[in-house]
Amino acid sequence: MYVDAHIHLYDEEFDEDREEVLQNALNNDVELILSVSEDYESSIKNLDILRIYRPRYKIYLGLGIHPYTAIYNPGDLTKMVELISQYHDTIISIGEVGLDRKYSDADKYWDRQVEAFEKMIQLSIEYFKPLNIHSRRAAKDVLTLLRKYDVRLAYFHWYTDDIETLKEIVDEGYYVGFTPALLTSKRIQKYTDVVPLTQVFTESDGPVRYYGPLNKSRGEPKHIPLIINKIAELYEEDVEEVTIVIRENFKRLFRLQYG
Ligand SMILES: [Zn+2]
Repeated sequence: MYVDAHIHLYDEEFDEDREEVLQNALNNDVELILSVSEDYESSIKNLDILRIYRPRYKIYLGLGIHPYTAIYNPGDLTKMVELISQYHDTIISIGEVGLDRKYSDADKYWDRQVEAFEKMIQLSIEYFKPLNIHSRRAAKDVLTLLRKYDVRLAYFHWYTDDIETLKEIVDEGYYVGFTPALLTSKRIQKYTDVVPLTQVFTESDGPVRYYGPLNKSRGEPKHIPLIINKIAELYEEDVEEVTIVIRENFKRLFRLQYG
């Protein structure tokens, strides 16, 4: 049983064939799927998706405000705080949240990003829900805020920053995600030297598109076994063992009970 710890199931790219994507996931033994949100609208859509598909598929939800939303649609913050408070029993994660220094207005609206992320951190602590974190070119800044609030439950999705900061992240006990980019990027493959398998997650970040074996196709849960095989190769472990460890990681961080 495989894990997709970060996907945007609400995305319109899945509108035509969402059911098929979920069925293909199951056919490939990808059973635990965590769909994250980026703003108020995507959160509402994710909640609808949960209602429709939940009995048949093991979908779990993250609600949160993405740094992009924090910059360009700051009015969503108040609504998201209310929504998370209302649905804290329904969700297992606060995400996708974090900081980003790459957007052209990132520095100009840095205080908006920090305000939104700090609010999300506070909700994470209040409701005991792990953070699902976006940290592009801002992992150090993210780490500083996590330490400020003494956050224990955090997952760095698709980490792409420097290896020194990654070591600090791992030392804090936070989790780190690998996407299909692991199949092709030598730089990302190097991260496996410093992240213990017991702190690894697999994720598609669908519908993001990937080069290499995926041939620019949309990332989906069905690709998780490819990532697992690559992880097994890089860590020199059995595929079976890797699968079990990552499933246990998911269960440990998100405190899930299942058979
Ligand atoms: Zn994402």
